[in-house]
Amino acid sequence: MALRFHNTLTQQIEEFQPADGHTVRMYTCGPTVWNFVHIGNLRTFTFQDILRRWLRARGFALDHVMNLTDVDDRIIREAAAAGKTIYEYTEQYTQAFLDDAAALRLERPERLVKATDHIPEMVEAIRKLSAKGFTYESEGSVYFRVSGFKDYGKLSHSDFGGMKAGARVDTDKYDKTDARDFALWKARKEGEHFWEAAIGAGRPGWHIECSVMSMKYLGETLDIHAGGVDLTFPHHENEIAQSEALTGKRFARFWLHSEHLMLGEQVMSKSLGNFYTLRDLLGMGYTPEAIRYLLASVPYRKQLNFTFDGLHAAATAIERLRNFDLRLAGGKFPDGAHDGLAARAAGALRKFEESLDDDLNTAEALGAVFEYVRDANTAMDAGEFRAANTAQARGLLARFDAVFDVLKPAAKAGDITGPEIEDLIAARTAARKARDFKRADEIRMELADRGVILEDTRDGVRWKRK
Ligand code: AMP
Ligand code: ZN
Repeated sequence: MALRFHNTLTQQIEEFQPADGHTVRMYTCGPTVWNFVHIGNLRTFTFQDILRRWLRARGFALDHVMNLTDVDDRIIREAAAAGKTIYEYTEQYTQAFLDDAAALRLERPERLVKATDHIPEMVEAIRKLSAKGFTYESEGSVYFRVSGFKDYGKLSHSDFGGMKAGARVDTDKYDKTDARDFALWKARKEGEHFWEAAIGAGRPGWHIECSVMSMKYLGETLDIHAGGVDLTFPHHENEIAQSEALTGKRFARFWLHSEHLMLGEQVMSKSLGNFYTLRDLLGMGYTPEAIRYLLASVPYRKQLNFTFDGLHAAATAIERLRNFDLRLAGGKFPDGAHDGLAARAAGALRKFEESLDDDLNTAEALGAVFEYVRDANTAMDAGEFRAANTAQARGLLARFDAVFDVLKPAAKAGDITGPEIEDLIAARTAARKARDFKRADEIRMELADRGVILEDTRDGVRWKRK
């Protein structure tokens, strides 16, 4: 069965192919850089990382754009309170986000783009929307008139029964003629950051950011647009309205939304105050791999309840896989193959791949790996595991780790770093070439003392930390 995803737009599981058959043009809503992200946010970004990696495993190239929302009400407020410009203020949290993402081994999207770098494009888009009659002005702000866009509600599958067009709703800040209308451009307010523009002095609304930046880099129709489930309405509904009003074309072919990380009965959120940051958990001694594993292990369309028991279980699961990996590396197995085990390894690989093809069913995929590892360990205990079984076992672990990426332990403070290890391995290889086996052995011993095990394979030297 082919790769398929649940599409929020159609509410169906659909077979996925990029429109050009080759490169997936994907946009994901990134963080608002007003503070540290919490592990709920990171669940959504981890899902997107698994999605990236599986798309690539399935042979597609990626052009993935993620935005950083670096201007909004909270940023303006907090920056002012800290006596900083919005640029100074967001810089520290942008860096913190990048550090957290790297610690969790989230791949860098092909393009990370900032809202404040795209103000002229946003102004231009708003002008075009106005020229097409989709906007109105009120007290210096420009609003999108939702009643002018006939497909409004098609993503969130809502007919807005209680929010009829024409019902006048005054918010305390801005005047709108319909509760669903939203600001494209917010008029300058005293003491707030603003830009001078042909449409008046002010700043962009949040929704226009994403429409403008996604279409600028990816074209008018994206293959995939993803985000957390809370963004479906109004954010993504509004993105569709603006974008399709501008182009007359379908904005995104697939909409993927990930469910929330919960803490007990409640959604983990900054505003409720019930959250952990990655830094909190690392400070308590948990590893980034265990956190990554936990966040990835439940399929993205199911809520995941965060517990410390769950985090311990994740660490144990990783340990089991690492032990198996070490057993494979260190074992001297008799020649030949155990046929039953060979068939089970092939079956596990098939099941792993089919599960991820099935709307990224990570739980089933992990189940297939652990079932095989249990059988292989049993065979090893009984002396039945054979030399010819190792390649398949390694292949399965490699396929697993290309997606889940938890086998290599993260360096701890004071540990020898990856590049230092690579340098020493290169020096050892050079010594061996020069037939200086004494030196080569010394290097191996030095690495062993520093907790690094080398393994010579046909494809070169592999290393792992003890
Ligand atoms: P924000 O920085 O508030 O724009 O959020 C960044 C991303 O995190 C968005 O895609 C949200 O949908 C997502 N998000 C926020 N809270 C949670 C949560 N508790 N679980 C999963 N994702 C979340
Ligand atoms: Zn967005």
